[in-house]
Order: sequence, then C-alpha cells, then structure tokens
Amino acid sequence: MTELPYRYEAPVSQTLFDRASLVTPGGVNSPVRAFRAVGGTPRFMVSGSGPYLTDADGREYVDLVCSWGPMILGHSHPEVIAAVQEAVARGTSFGTPGEGEVALAEEIVARIEPVEQVRLVSSGTEATMSAIRLARGFTGRAKVVKFAGCYHGHVDALLAAAGSGVATFGLPDTPGVTGAQAGDTIVLPYNDLEAVRDAFAAHPGEIACVITEASPGNMGVVPPLDGFNAGLKELCAANGALYISDEVMTGFRTSKAGWFGVDGVRPDLMTFGKVMGGGFPAAAFGGRADVMAHLAPAGPVYQAGTLSGNPIATAAGLAQLRLLDDAAYAKVDAVSAEIRGLVSEALAKEGVAHTVQAASNMFSVFFTDRPVRNYEDAKQQEAFRFTAFFHSLLSQGVYLPPSAFESWFVSTAHDTQAVERIAAALPAAARAASEATA
Ligand code: PLP
Repeated sequence: MTELPYRYEAPVSQTLFDRASLVTPGGVNSPVRAFRAVGGTPRFMVSGSGPYLTDADGREYVDLVCSWGPMILGHSHPEVIAAVQEAVARGTSFGTPGEGEVALAEEIVARIEPVEQVRLVSSGTEATMSAIRLARGFTGRAKVVKFAGCYHGHVDALLAAAGSGVATFGLPDTPGVTGAQAGDTIVLPYNDLEAVRDAFAAHPGEIACVITEASPGNMGVVPPLDGFNAGLKELCAANGALYISDEVMTGFRTSKAGWFGVDGVRPDLMTFGKVMGGGFPAAAFGGRADVMAHLAPAGPVYQAGTLSGNPIATAAGLAQLRLLDDAAYAKVDAVSAEIRGLVSEALAKEGVAHTVQAASNMFSVFFTDRPVRNYEDAKQQEAFRFTAFFHSLLSQGVYLPPSAFESWFVSTAHDTQAVERIAAALPAAARAASEATA
C-alpha cells in the first residue's frame, strides 16, 4: 500500500505500533487490527467508557466496533465492572468446577430453547472446533459443509474461503492448513440451497454437519434469505447430518435468544462467544442433549480447557446477560436503525452508491447499489470508497471496523450525544467516499 497522509496523525499509537512490530508479527495479535485493509496507524486504545474509546494520543472516538460485538452495554458498564471486581477479589482461576459457570450455563439454557446442554470454552474458535469434532464423533462421518464468506474462527478445517480477516486480505486459504485438514471441508456459496442439496447428493452418508453463521456478519452483514436456514435444517435432517448454527457473533446480540430468537429454526448444535463473555474470553457450544452426551467425560469425544469456565469471565458474562432484557435490545435496535438512516442519508446526498444491510442491530454498509446475498456479491463493492469514508470518520473521532467486510456494532450506551457526533462527521466522510478513486 502506498504511503498515506494520515499515517502520522497518532504519534503515540505509531510509536507503540513500531515497538509492537518488533516483537509481534505485523504488530498485532489479531490481523484486522493492523489497519492493513485501510492503511494508516492502528489506534492503540487505553480506555473505554460507554460508547467512547480513548486512544494513547488522548483522542476520543465514538466506538462502532464494540470490541467486535461483545460490548453491547458499552464500555466499563458499572454493574459488569462491579461483578468482575467482586469475582477477582476471590481469586482468578481454580481449575475446579465453580458456581459461576453453572449459573452462566443455566442462563444460556434458559434463553435459548434448542440448547439443552452447554459446554463452556474460552474462544469462539474453540467453540466451533469442538462442535465440529462432536458432530463428527456423533455421526461417525468426516465431511463438513461451510459457506464461502462465513468465518468460524481460525479452525484449520474452516479456514477455506472464510470471511473476516481472511476476506479482508483476500486469502483463498492459508498456508499451514494441510490438504488432509481441509480435504473434508466442502465450501458452498451462501444463500444457495440448491448447492447444499447437490453436495448431499454427491456425498451420500459422508457429511457430518453443515455449519453456518446464523446470520453472517463476517463478509459484511448478509442475512439469510427467507427459508435458507430452515432449508438447511431440513436437508441436514433428511440426510442424517447435524445442523450447526454459529451464533458467536449473533448470540445474545440480535435478540435475547440471538438469531434463533429471530428466525426460530432449531439447530442441533450452536456456538456462542463475544456477548456472553462480557469482554472476557468466554465462549460455548451446546445443543441437543443426546448429542452433547457424547462429550467427555459423559461420552467418548474429548474436549477440555485449563481456563474453561473461568470465574472472572463467567462473572462478567453473567452480569452482562442479566442486564440484557427486552428494553436493552429495543434500545440497541433503535440506535442501530437511527445510525443506519443517517449513514444512508449522508451517502445518498453525495450520490454514493451504497447498500446498508442489517440483521437486527448488526449492520454494515456496502459500497454498491446492488443487494449483497453472498461473498461474491460482497467482493463486487467499491472497497476503495470505504477506505476514504473510514479515514474521514476516524479523523473526526468516529471509530469504524477497519475493513469493508465487517459488521458495525452499537450498544445500549450509544446515546443522543454519541449519535450527534456521528451525524456531524458523516457529511465530510460521505464527500470523501464520493471523491475517492480506485
Ligand atoms: N464464529 C463467528 C461467527 C465469529 O464471528 C468469530 C469471530 O469473529 C468466531 C467464530 C471466532 O471467535 P473467536 O475470535 O473468539 O475465536
């Protein structure tokens, strides 16, 4: 990427990034954070409060990333912080069962009807990896169907044609994943039931599971077409495969019961992360009790974790979930709709072709005037306009995900003042998008 004028706008962040780059590959611990898709200096954040983040240069931003989804109550929510402080005062990890993890599991089971049993893990990647192992162990089959543009964490078998950072960098696959690890993965176009039907016909008795993002947010927000998830469920049931709904991003965000609460399609297994950890590393997979019974120590499929069910993480997650009532979701949905409207209005005023797509309160802006139904459509957008839009907003104190292929996230803390700051920044950003050249 050519040198960009905004590279040195954040001198303290730049110094930190230079230091980080000496000791950490690419200077970051998760690729999209490096700003490579948009250029410039990644902002090193030092604190967060409500809808705002403050960087190491002392600049404040309205945060539209919310830690990639988890911070649905905003940053430093006093009740979540209090729960964490109370838990941490009792110790940080025991390596034994504890009441916090029982309470969190009960909360998940109570909210999400298809989840009869749940196992806690520490990341979304672990959740999907374990769910797939369980599906393979349960069915005695090897093959896994996934969809192009869906990201399920950096599980070897699921990195084929993945979204998120893999989409951002246009990597078709990643070195280090062997043919054996990816060879049982069948990648199909999203929202295409015919392709799924054909795959089952081509591999009778071989497909263990179909895994899909409940409503994808890792190629930008691309909701399932009407009947798509129901069709997947039906095809899986008819062919003896498990239907795994990955709700790491949508779980406890798109409604009290995640995307299941929106479309009501019952998966056999589900995966969760992000919101359920309250900003700590907590994730989970769960579903049908007869399937979960195959998991060690109840059954033969091995799965474990030193920090699984960690008392601080479960305290944070539980505190956050208990605050997420109907009123909280109504608030997040409303502020999301308001911001979507403002963005669209500003871009339309400048004649910028765009499509705003939403799944409840998750949304993203594609720089194309055509609806985006799958990864191929998403790649057709004029991503260079996003780069200009992103940097204009950043320089005006609005923090977007640093990639055109990610969902934007809001919280209950995004109040009128935060929305006004966004509204004030949008006209110049829309102009920058309209003037951008490839
Ligand atoms: N599944 C989905 C749908 C995700 O969006 C993500 C992360 O963004 C993951 C799985 C992986 O979660 P983690 O980053 O916690 O490993």
